[in-house]
Amino acid sequence: MSKYLIVGQGLAGTLLAFSLLEKGEEVLIADDYKHASASQVAAGMWNPVTFKRLAASWLAKEMLEEMNVTFRKLEEKLQTSFFHSLPVARIFNSIQDANFWDEKSDHPEVGKYLSARTNKSVQENFNAPFGNSEVNECGWLNVPLFREVALNYFIRHENFIEEAVNENEVEFNGSKVLWKERMFDKLILCNGIGVNQWKGLEHLDLIPNHGQVLDLKIENLELDAIVNFGQFLLPFGNKKFRLGATYNWNEVPDEPTYDAKELLISELKLRLDKDVVVESHKTGFRPTTRDRRPIVGFAKQNELLGVFGGLGSKGVLLAPYFSKLFSAVLTENAPIPKEVSTARF
Ligand SMILES: Cc1cc2nc3c(=O)[nH]c(=O)nc-3n(C[C@H](O)[C@H](O)[C@H](O)COP(=O)(O)OP(=O)(O)OC[C@H]3O[C@@H](n4cnc5c(N)ncnc54)[C@H](O)[C@@H]3O)c2cc1C
Repeated sequence: MSKYLIVGQGLAGTLLAFSLLEKGEEVLIADDYKHASASQVAAGMWNPVTFKRLAASWLAKEMLEEMNVTFRKLEEKLQTSFFHSLPVARIFNSIQDANFWDEKSDHPEVGKYLSARTNKSVQENFNAPFGNSEVNECGWLNVPLFREVALNYFIRHENFIEEAVNENEVEFNGSKVLWKERMFDKLILCNGIGVNQWKGLEHLDLIPNHGQVLDLKIENLELDAIVNFGQFLLPFGNKKFRLGATYNWNEVPDEPTYDAKELLISELKLRLDKDVVVESHKTGFRPTTRDRRPIVGFAKQNELLGVFGGLGSKGVLLAPYFSKLFSAVLTENAPIPKEVSTARF
């Protein structure tokens, strides 16, 4: 049995911790919640289809399988419902769009996710002259709730400490990691956009991407699908909806902007003729990579310092599969596929 210090309790740190605990390893997670956290802002949607090309997302089948098994198991373990299946209804922009969808429905890979079903609640409420069709096998994870109940579990089992881990307080002494008089076999960074600020990891191509979302209240709107019209509208229940999201590579610092709010609301208004009340405006940085693959592995010349991150805009779909893979790397010496390894940079 080894002892791991995991830095960060976002999606990456939480899932890696559960994976290691399941294998009987010892884990301490440290987070002070004062750093940037994408997981606190994420709408938590998963969707195996990339709309731009109407193609299946990378390893969609494998990711969906692992995601479903992992979150269903964790719902039982944590006695809380946070993982919700819900179709995405894609509104077509033109007749060509609708025809392209029909064409792709026979495709061996993406076809099984593209339904011929029109979502009635979307068609009745939205301006959609070219119709809409549903994507199968979609839904959303209530990420803040998942994080909170996981935290309570970790606290109860003495797997958590509410503190930041600063590099200058960590000592790597050959075979052990020392942090504040505690000794570990490895330190694993799951600190979102902070992973390449540590020595030996500066070469990682991790780029923060700023995203903004609005939480809305809309009376007289009942939806039984997530709507996608370029932006998304996700129904939470109780007339509450999340609208998003913007993508911006240059937005610093992390603050809500008037322009983003205007853009999101005006795009919604083109499709939906209802009064909306903005209840909150949230922002965060997605930890993205240029090749859109996660990051799994170790620092240059320091096998005691591991890293799991780069989940981009698909944390919910990718994190279960890759946390399991990384725990097998850590405990069974399983190989790291080149396309996600730190060694690719
Ligand atoms: C606006 C927006 C919308 C999104 N929507 C979706 C979506 O619909 N579906 C989806 O799958 N993904 C979505 N994402 C992406 C998703 O949020 C990320 O992929 C995922 O949350 C990243 O998780 P993480 O654990 O790697 O990083 P984070 O969630 O950023 O977690 C990092 C954690 O590390 C902690 N930390 C940092 N430094 C330290 C330190 N020195 N010591 C201790 N702790 C530290 C932080 O406090 C934080 O808790 C969205 C992101 C944004 C910004």
